[in-house]
Amino acid sequence: MANTKQILALNRFDARHAEGFDAELRSLIARRQATFGASSVLVYERPIRMVRAEGVWMFDADGRRYLDVYNNVASVGHCHPRVVEAIAKQAATLNTNTRYLYDNIHDYAERLLATFPAALSNVVFTCTGSESNDFALRLSKSFTGGRGFVVIETAYHGNTEAVTEVSPSSFKTRSVPPHVRTVPAPDQYRHPTNDVGARLAEDVAEAIADLEQNGVKFAGLLVDSIFSSDGIYADPAGFLKQAVDVVHKAGGLFISDEVQPGFGRTGTAMWGFQRHSAEPDIVTMGKPMGNGFPVGGVVTRPEILESLCETTGYFNTFGGNPVAAAAGLAVLDVIEDEGLIENAKEIGAYVRSGLQALASRYPAIGDVRSAGLFIGIEFSLPGTTDPDPATASYVINALKERGVLIGAAGAYGNVLKVRPPLCFARDNADFFIERLEAALSER
Ligand code: PMP
Repeated sequence: MANTKQILALNRFDARHAEGFDAELRSLIARRQATFGASSVLVYERPIRMVRAEGVWMFDADGRRYLDVYNNVASVGHCHPRVVEAIAKQAATLNTNTRYLYDNIHDYAERLLATFPAALSNVVFTCTGSESNDFALRLSKSFTGGRGFVVIETAYHGNTEAVTEVSPSSFKTRSVPPHVRTVPAPDQYRHPTNDVGARLAEDVAEAIADLEQNGVKFAGLLVDSIFSSDGIYADPAGFLKQAVDVVHKAGGLFISDEVQPGFGRTGTAMWGFQRHSAEPDIVTMGKPMGNGFPVGGVVTRPEILESLCETTGYFNTFGGNPVAAAAGLAVLDVIEDEGLIENAKEIGAYVRSGLQALASRYPAIGDVRSAGLFIGIEFSLPGTTDPDPATASYVINALKERGVLIGAAGAYGNVLKVRPPLCFARDNADFFIERLEAALSER
């Protein structure tokens, strides 16, 4: 069996391979290493020098064009003119913090909250998904009086100290701290079961019991409802609900991390938790919220927010500034006016059927899983369910040579993550499938 991999190790550039590169590329890489040091993460066997982007396309310094099937930041399309104009206009008018009243942040707060169940009626603005999850952990602790969290064993939720502790896929050498328990991903491919929801619920119940037996009061379950870093587990819709019921019975909170599935990507609704009919107590958001402008947020019930604010103030200098609000409002307008949720559903289904047709011809493709425009392609050693990260890695680099950008996910890095901007069209899907077939046929 392949070894498990840390999330930032997937498709990572290895500087030892820079020798054959031209002098200019070598010099840029050297400057980066000298300044970024050990934390530098570059992708691909030969890093790309990116200069501009538009819609679903990105362009490098040599004028080569790449189809971006890997971007959940420029979620409504790279440099979308309406978002760019809204940001530029607001930046030229007023940008300050939320200690003043201004209209657009309140328009935005109300528009955003209207997309959630009525009970989730308060929003706190942040700048990143990590900040949102960090705040969600604090809210859960103050409201429940507990400090124990349950997460998926391959989860990634961000980069603050507290959030890294609940992001096992970031660990290189350490294990989860004593206040955290992990449960396996709802993997129906490698570990089939008749009822994946019941199995996840049982695992969560056991994890909660184990925390309590060790004197750690349970605070909450934190889950990315499309299980993106875990390898994308979407079906059957609804399977998450039983685990959430267990959490509520145990007095804990369910935090739905919508940084990946949120803003219409799953093609059924605005939020990933809605596919599962599971009501969260806290929802965290980031990446797609500002289409590239750093906007994040936490939505919750007033009593949960009050429980923290009674003892501790919270202020975020950049969170909810007028430019962030302008970007966020423009993103909501574009999703609505361009019918992007319906597009995610329709084109997502089209890509999925194209991939399933490929899977019938190429045994390296062991499984295709998806919800809307979030699709996982699992590579396995033919005739087995054993992960095949070497083929995934080959395909990622071969696709880049053929003008398509894609990334990997999953414990073994053997699942390709198909996550294009939501304006992805049928001809983009055809381009992607054709290139993927060419890469597979030349392996
Ligand atoms: N949650 C999930 C599910 C994520 O995938 C990420 C980022 N990849 C984060 C949170 C953290 O977001 P950010 O990088 O904006 O802090």
